[in-house]
Amino acid sequence: MSFIPYALPLTGEEEIQEVVDTIRSGWLTTGPKTKQFEKDFSAFVGAKFALAVNSATAGLHLGLEALGVGPGDKVITTVHTFTATAEVIRYLGADPIFVDIEGDSFNIDCDAIEEALKQNPEVKVILPVHYAGQAANMTRIMALAKQYNVKVMEDAAHALPTTHNGQMIGTIADITVYSFYANKTITTGEGGMVVTNNEDYVKRISCMRLHGISKDVFDRFTSTKPSWHYQVVAPGFKYNMTDIAASMGIHQLKKANVLQSRRQAIAEKYNNAFSDLPVTTPFITNSSDVHSWHLYVLQLNINELSIDRDEFIRIMADKGIGTSVHYIPLHMHPYWQDNYNLTEGGFPKSSSAFYRIVSLPNYPKMTDEQVERVINTVREILLEHKK
Ligand SMILES: *Cc1c(COP(=O)(O)O)cnc(C)c1O
Repeated sequence: MSFIPYALPLTGEEEIQEVVDTIRSGWLTTGPKTKQFEKDFSAFVGAKFALAVNSATAGLHLGLEALGVGPGDKVITTVHTFTATAEVIRYLGADPIFVDIEGDSFNIDCDAIEEALKQNPEVKVILPVHYAGQAANMTRIMALAKQYNVKVMEDAAHALPTTHNGQMIGTIADITVYSFYANKTITTGEGGMVVTNNEDYVKRISCMRLHGISKDVFDRFTSTKPSWHYQVVAPGFKYNMTDIAASMGIHQLKKANVLQSRRQAIAEKYNNAFSDLPVTTPFITNSSDVHSWHLYVLQLNINELSIDRDEFIRIMADKGIGTSVHYIPLHMHPYWQDNYNLTEGGFPKSSSAFYRIVSLPNYPKMTDEQVERVINTVREILLEHKK
C-alpha cells in the first residue's frame, strides 16, 4: 500500500504554463506577474493594498518594522504557534510577551491578552495567529487594541480564506500576513503577502522589502527617470517575490475557494467518522464563519487510551499515513524557554493540548479512497487501544 503523506500541494497545468511563460519572457524577478498577483490578492481579500514577499516570515518582519517596533518594545503573541511568529519580534530587538490559548479553539486567549496589556505599558502590537485556519476573536482583540492604544498584526499563515463574523481576515487588523509555503492553503513554493489599508505602511514595506531603495526594481525599469537611478533611504532587506513564484500564485489564488471547499468536505467526513471514538474533534467557534481548514487537528482523549500520542503517530506511520503536530509550543523549545523563563505550568492549556494533538492529512489532492483509508486506520488503532 502506498504511503499517504501528511501534506501535498495541488498545482495544475495553469501554474506550469504561467511559469513557462514567465521564463520565456526573460523577466524572472519582481515584475508584471508579481504586480498582477498583488492586484488579484487585494481584490480577493477586499483590502486596499497587497505586497508580495518571499515568505510570511519576511512579511511579519516587515509588518512589525513598519509598525515601528524596536528595542524596548513588547509584542503580545501566543505560544501555540510556529517559531516564525515570535522570531520576527527578536529580529527587531523587541521582546515577545507570550500568552496561553483558549482550551477549545486553541486560539490566543483574549483574557490573557488583556492581563498582559494591563501589566506592560511597553506593548506596541498584538500578534494573533488564526490557528488551523479558524479566526481568533478579532472583535475582542480590536477592542482591546483601541482601548490600550496598540496596533494589531495578524499571522494569517493558515487563514486563506477565513472570515470572522462575516468579515474577511485581511480587512480587520492594521496589517495581515499570509504564507504561500508549499504546504499552506495556496502555494508559490515559498512566498507570502502583506495586506493593509494604510498607505504609510505600504510605503515603508515597499521600500524595506527591497534594500531600502526608494523605488522598487520594476518601477526603476519602467519609470521616466534614467534606469540606473535609485536612492537608498534605509538599510532594508531582500524580501521581494519573484515573478516565477507569482506565476503560480496567480492561478493558486483563483482556486482558493475550491481548495477550501475540498478541505472542509474532508474535515466534515473526519468529524462524522470519529464521533464515537475516544477523541475530541476540532472545535468550531462560529459555524457561520469560513474556516480555511488548513489543519485538521484531532485531540486524543489519552486517559481513555492505552497508547499516548507519540505511539499513535508511530502506528499511523507504520500503516502508511503521515501526520504532524501543530505545534510543539514555543515554551517547550530551548531558545524561548531559556531566554524568557517559560515553563509548562505557565501555559497549562497549550501544554495539555500538546500531549493530545495530532494533525491528520487534509489536502485537496487526497482521493476519496485515501480519505477512507485515513478514517479506517484511525478507527482501527483507537478502537484497538481503547481502555
Ligand atoms: C508557515 C507559518 C509561518 C511562516 O511562513 P513562511 O512563509 O514559511 O515564512 C508563520 N506562522 C505560522 C503560524 C505558520 O504556520
